[in-house]
Amino acid sequence: MFKAVLIEETDEGPRARLAELDDADLPGGAVSVDVAYSSLNYKDALGITGSAPIARSFPMVAGIDLAGTVGASDDAAFATGDAVLATGFGIGERHWGGLAQRARLEPGWVVPVPAPFDVRQAMAIGTAGFTAMLCVLALEDRGVVPGDGPVLVTGAAGGVGSVAVALLGAIGHEVIASTGRPEEADYLRGLGAADILDRTELSEPGKALAKQRWTAAIDTVGGQTLANVCAGTRYGGTVAACGNAGGMKLPATVAPFILRAVALIGVDSVQCPMPRRLEAWRRLGEQLDPARLGEMTAEIGLSEVLETAPRLLAGAVRGRLVVDVSR
Ligand code: NDP
Repeated sequence: MFKAVLIEETDEGPRARLAELDDADLPGGAVSVDVAYSSLNYKDALGITGSAPIARSFPMVAGIDLAGTVGASDDAAFATGDAVLATGFGIGERHWGGLAQRARLEPGWVVPVPAPFDVRQAMAIGTAGFTAMLCVLALEDRGVVPGDGPVLVTGAAGGVGSVAVALLGAIGHEVIASTGRPEEADYLRGLGAADILDRTELSEPGKALAKQRWTAAIDTVGGQTLANVCAGTRYGGTVAACGNAGGMKLPATVAPFILRAVALIGVDSVQCPMPRRLEAWRRLGEQLDPARLGEMTAEIGLSEVLETAPRLLAGAVRGRLVVDVSR
């Protein structure tokens, strides 16, 4: 038997509860993982609260990421006792996920925990931190290098935002952190931000072309904010968009793209191909200072996940939440 956050279909919609499940109920998959840590991401909170249809079949074990040790493997690439992690590929959406003490996965989804991290740090990074690294790679693909000019991060005090600020700062970029929480200015400067921008400056309808303030941006907010981010990007600049914490719509004009040659690059972590995944985790190992990761991480137990999910959606959680599934 093992404990898990289980989402079930009811007449009132999806409902999550802490459940005891039988190992025999686990889905198919060649790699069995004794999960040690998962994390609470924005998407997890949407699914657990029933705010968006994240679970695609029922009953569904929640949790879009996990880290632990291999319990048994029918695949030669993994051996019992290996420290591994997994994010995306439908885990916690179409396939039982990581907010559980046990998981069974396809080998093609499993990534060795990269040095210098342990399994807890791997989930302190989790889907959010991995996505932040994918955004950094997207900027680098377009030739953005330190010294080019400021890089803006929106939703900076959240999970993706905090890791993005720390990574960009460590690489040597001048980081502008946009946040709705001015009380987190010292926290963001500690992670590596040079300047703080009040998010209300980006959240109201603005001009098609605004003053050119940043060379590149990582946007976790979407909506009007993303439109304004593009409008304020310098000639030839790049915006990596990964989130919708502020809205799904994009009320933008084509002006930044056709008059300033701004590029808007979409970033997805779920179906990200394995070579890019391994590259992102390798770069996280090189560039994310474990001490900074510790500053942005708080821990909860599996039994606290249900009460914490609404707080995350309300924007009241700072940085990352790692989940110890043993308690
Ligand atoms: P968090 O909840 O940790 O952070 C989101 C942050 O966005 C908040 O902390 C807040 O930052 C800001 N924010 C929240 N609501 C609003 C609003 N209404 N207007 C403006 N800003 C707002 O979430 P994550 O960091 O885990 O995820 C961020 C986004 O990225 C989510 O939309 C998530 O779905 C997406 N995502 C996408 C992935 C992909 O594969 N494309 C993978 C992972 C995440 P502050 O307080 O600093 O203003």
